[in-house]
Amino acid sequence: GATPAAELDGFMRIFGVETEYGVSVTGADRPVDAGQVAMTMFQPVVSRARSTNTYLDNGSRLYLDVGSHPEYATAEARDPFDALAQDAAGERVMASLAADAQTRLRAGHGEDATIHVFKNNVDSAGHAFGCHENYLVRRFVPLETIERQLLPFLITRQLYTGAGRFTPDGFQITQRADFLDEAVSSATTRSRPMVNTRDEPHADPESFRRLHVIIGDSNRSQWATWMKLAVTHLVLCVIEDAVRRGRPSGFEDLTFDDPAAANRAVSRWLDAGERRVGDAGAAGMPDPLAMQHRYLDIVEAFVRDHHDAVAASLPKSEVDVVLADWRWALEMLERRDFLALSTRVDWAAKHVLASAMRRRRPDLDFAQLERMELDYHDVANGRLYGSLVAHSRLQVLLEDSTVAAAKHEPPADTRAALRGAFVRRALDTGAQFSCDWTTLVVTAPTRREATLLDPFGAEPSDAYRALMAAME
Ligand code: ATP
Ligand code: MG
Ligand code: MG
Repeated sequence: GATPAAELDGFMRIFGVETEYGVSVTGADRPVDAGQVAMTMFQPVVSRARSTNTYLDNGSRLYLDVGSHPEYATAEARDPFDALAQDAAGERVMASLAADAQTRLRAGHGEDATIHVFKNNVDSAGHAFGCHENYLVRRFVPLETIERQLLPFLITRQLYTGAGRFTPDGFQITQRADFLDEAVSSATTRSRPMVNTRDEPHADPESFRRLHVIIGDSNRSQWATWMKLAVTHLVLCVIEDAVRRGRPSGFEDLTFDDPAAANRAVSRWLDAGERRVGDAGAAGMPDPLAMQHRYLDIVEAFVRDHHDAVAASLPKSEVDVVLADWRWALEMLERRDFLALSTRVDWAAKHVLASAMRRRRPDLDFAQLERMELDYHDVANGRLYGSLVAHSRLQVLLEDSTVAAAKHEPPADTRAALRGAFVRRALDTGAQFSCDWTTLVVTAPTRREATLLDPFGAEPSDAYRALMAAME
């Protein structure tokens, strides 16, 4: 049950990424609304699991809430690389569901019916949907400290993790700044802008909480997904260590008076750069890039002092590479080198593509940019992303075979390994089962249950063995 002291004492983390997808159909001989598309995609899930809410044999959760945004929540990972692999596997899970649904849809709606599954955060009707990051943090850190010290970081990290968005009023480097106003400004009124108000640690509540970050775009760039998890982890390490030792972290004076305004300004960072006037500093707001430099300097000094302990918290990612890539991104931003950034940063990739399109077609209109953008985000039938990767214009961090394997293999060093094996066996034997993050239940032929309270624990308990044996 409880998490061993080693995990509690060190800087070990659990990472999880939830991604909601947007869906649509084009080319059908009569209109098909998004809700219908989503239900068609989930038909096989429902017939297998008798529910639109299920867990897969890679330990992840696949889910369709009321409405039309299928969600995939990655299995618990100890390293950003594993979380990235699980998230990339989620894109393929969605693509498979879409391919299958498209075949069925074409039977009734014409041979040209094409399903699109967008890994983005705003649909054509202007509704925003989310990409949530989950971080296990130690309970002794007050939530208010995390919020206060992390929020300016989360707002400004969008300079290199933003997915970008074309709007009729210009290009923004984030998808959701215009939709997150309330969430971000409520930071100042003490409600919980970036963490779920529900306290659901999915772990021993005495020791841990689950930080639920909602300020962030869905990324197609693997580097961006990996980077946002890795850098946020390092900032959390500094905060946890400071609280544990009763010392200041150094982040105390990094604040925005008006986080919502700062968030909007970051999203319009390119406008400010192009005009070269009215820089944020002049308006009384700290410069977002300078703020990122301050965070990086503090984190770098911290890692120098605690190198082995921090390195040990990341089984696969190299902490020095994380820091080097972070500094690289800030330098490229400083130089406004969008071409360099475009190999790793989603908004820059889109920005560079748009510039190239404009050079070829000076009369380029907004609708053409929008089409390009949707294609970039479409994990089912989009071409642009694959072509950028094939031409080495967008970097990938994972082998294709790693992503393919992650569709059916959970991270090996968390409880997700136990959940995945459980789901595999239940599917193989046709046993009726249900799960959540901390419980596994077989409901038929006889009811049995096992709890997995320790997210770091990949060793089977007696109850787990009995549960598995019951399905033999
Ligand atoms: P909702 O979709 O209603 O917002 P939620 O955000 O509470 O629900 P899920 O969608 O079920 O939760 O996703 C939970 C995510 O948290 C998963 O990615 C999972 O891997 C991760 N997770 C599970 N346990 C922990 C934990 N103890 N600490 C950090 N992350 C965790
Ligand atoms: Mg969720
Ligand atoms: Mg969530």
